[in-house]
Amino acid sequence: MPQCPSCGEKISHLKVEKIEYGSLSLFNEEPYWEWYNDVYGANNYKYVFKCPGCDEIIFENIEKAIEHLKSSK
Ligand SMILES: [Zn+2]
Repeated sequence: MPQCPSCGEKISHLKVEKIEYGSLSLFNEEPYWEWYNDVYGANNYKYVFKCPGCDEIIFENIEKAIEHLKSSK
């Protein structure tokens, strides 16, 4: 089973946070939220992978996270 590079705990899965990009501005003095997925129709997310044990961010790259889960250390 792979281990967390930060705390060394054996991990069977990673915690994931999905962050959506956007902007906040004022429109007629009112807060105006714009989410890039709505505007550009693109996949404007960032993924952060954390250790379920120590909660450290250990990967920010999907391929590397999957590669680590497949590895044995
Ligand atoms: Zn850890």
